[in-house]
Amino acid sequence: MHAMRLDAPHAALQWVELPDRQPGPGEIRVRVGACGVCRTDLHVVDGDLPFPGHPVIPGHEIVGRIDALGEGVQGLHPGQRVGIPWLGHTCGTCRYCHSGHENLCDHPLFTGYTRDGGYATAAIADARYAFPLGEDGDDVDLAPLLCAGLIGWRSLVMAGEDARTLGLYGFGAAAHIIAQVAIWQGRRVYGFTRPGDSKTQDFARGLGAVWAGGSDEQPPEPLDAAIIFAPVGALVPAALRAVRKGGRVVCAGIHMSEIPAFSYDLLWEERQLVSVANLTRQDGLDFLSLAPRIGIRTSTTRYPLREANRALADLRAGRFEGAAVLVP
Ligand SMILES: [Zn+2]
Ligand SMILES: [Zn+2]
Repeated sequence: MHAMRLDAPHAALQWVELPDRQPGPGEIRVRVGACGVCRTDLHVVDGDLPFPGHPVIPGHEIVGRIDALGEGVQGLHPGQRVGIPWLGHTCGTCRYCHSGHENLCDHPLFTGYTRDGGYATAAIADARYAFPLGEDGDDVDLAPLLCAGLIGWRSLVMAGEDARTLGLYGFGAAAHIIAQVAIWQGRRVYGFTRPGDSKTQDFARGLGAVWAGGSDEQPPEPLDAAIIFAPVGALVPAALRAVRKGGRVVCAGIHMSEIPAFSYDLLWEERQLVSVANLTRQDGLDFLSLAPRIGIRTSTTRYPLREANRALADLRAGRFEGAAVLVP
């Protein structure tokens, strides 16, 4: 197999040839059809997240077909198309696993971070954390659903069912998917971009946002909730300023620059500030069964696997709308 591997923090990914691994007990091997590029991959490569201590193959939006089953795997078969997300393993015994919060597990493994991911021609996964995807839709179009869609979904649920006016800060891979879900649910979506980024604002309006503007602007009506997808701490006070009394701000990213000090007035009147971490398998089942009914259309830019470094650089610079996807 071939892969683009991170050998040290802050280093460029290296094209490497590796022996094909056999899946261990409870594992599957997947031939990768497509792997989405997530901002978390950038945080791993850039060292915003601690280096896992060993070379790692990034990528946790994997769509592929099973080509080998490890001992004891039930309910999956060779040739089947599956999706492999960020949550790659949980302990099953800690207080979080026991209480339905496996996303907060004390001893998890994360695909493309603490276990090898999908910037490769093949990947090994824990079978219990792979989602059957069915045959509808192209691998490339489905890949962004596996994290941008899933984490976006968890964030949307966290925003609350009663959030009829919803702000999305950072209109990239996650927002462009979750805007479609929110609009389908009958919510009014407000898209916030980098100030002056009229191209992305047009993109947001094109997807059905009732308003799009710079993150330094106030929306024309107070928001019931806002989700922050961009890794920019200054957006926290900005979003608190935009939500009504009792409104909620959800931070969806795994990393954010420092949050500047802000006046208590912004939090006063029972505004809430929460974060979303990882996903549960139930989130995946809920979202992946809903997605075909909504008819979500992902906007993707394809890169050959070998050009993963270029895809990451383009994500860092905001050079495309929607999501980047690597194709082996
Ligand atoms: Zn656990
Ligand atoms: Zn991700």
